Amino acid sequence: MTKRRDFLQSLGMMGISLPVLHKILNRDSSYVPTTAASPLVMCSRGESWGKKVLEPAWAKFKETNSILDAIEAGSNVVELDPEDTSVGYGGLPDERGVVSLDASIMYGPTYNCGSVASLENIKKACSVARLVMERTDHSMIVGAGALAFAKAHGFPEENLLTENARLTWLEWKENLSDNDDWLPPPDGDYKKFRKGGTINVLGMGSEGDVAGITTTSGLFGKIHGRIGDSPIIGAGLFVDNEVGAAGATGRGEELIRTCGSFLLVEKMRAGKSPQIACEEVIERIFYVNGGKKNVNFNVKMVAFNKDGDAGSASIMPLGDNASASVITAQGMRLIPGKSMM
Ligand code: ASP
Repeated sequence: MTKRRDFLQSLGMMGISLPVLHKILNRDSSYVPTTAASPLVMCSRGESWGKKVLEPAWAKFKETNSILDAIEAGSNVVELDPEDTSVGYGGLPDERGVVSLDASIMYGPTYNCGSVASLENIKKACSVARLVMERTDHSMIVGAGALAFAKAHGFPEENLLTENARLTWLEWKENLSDNDDWLPPPDGDYKKFRKGGTINVLGMGSEGDVAGITTTSGLFGKIHGRIGDSPIIGAGLFVDNEVGAAGATGRGEELIRTCGSFLLVEKMRAGKSPQIACEEVIERIFYVNGGKKNVNFNVKMVAFNKDGDAGSASIMPLGDNASASVITAQGMRLIPGKSMM
């Protein structure tokens, strides 16, 4: 009895009432923690892209106070930019020369999510994913269904293949040997042909509400219909309102088989810092590859926790791309990435 009273008193001192405790324990999706957390937006890229993505995201956050609006605005910048060859318009195509997009979104306060995969002819894939989350009773819509859904919501159908992407594809096609998707040699030169990219935009709003987006055109030259990690919740993206957010880029097949982003969030829940958690997911990928570190693909993990600490780790050193960036009311800061190779 005394113990129970002590326990209730200590909850009271922490400002946690019994109904709130009940909601936490039962994972009531209406529960939004009100602990003081400073808003932030994080981008999985370094300085130059970071600035292009984070400044409009932050401006949107200040305008609407919605973290979902903010991360969507930041992601749309890359989706609409023809210069980026790994996301949205201008993305490198599949083996047929057709651009197809994968994107996902997740919102911590409701633990709700939405995604699209193999979406063709629509530039803002993450906005369609958001509509899957908010305007359907489903989590994932793919292929022709995703296109029809986007058109039903008024998205214009457009050709996503830029001249640059077409020429890159043509060169690949004309030089195909055994190094293609149909008969990949065990040690093919992925660094030369298997270009990827992707972007993660993660954020935390004024109420400590966590959210994230991952959007990509996927692996260059992929088999038609191949889906990567980006639209798969737990692989390319995962957020938990009590813990933080995580996103992944790089070889999706590795992230799917390790549940990379979910694993990262669970490591943070267990008390690991975002940086250590990112590094440990990369270690897990080495583990499932027989303990080898000299793999011929890259994976990069980024994350932040509810204290606003952030981390980034990749397999290969990628120059400016190894780092990530964060914006808060104090301005932008760079998160130096650690290469684990
Ligand atoms: N993760 C993406 C995919 O596998 C590609 C990438 O990020 O490079 O589709």
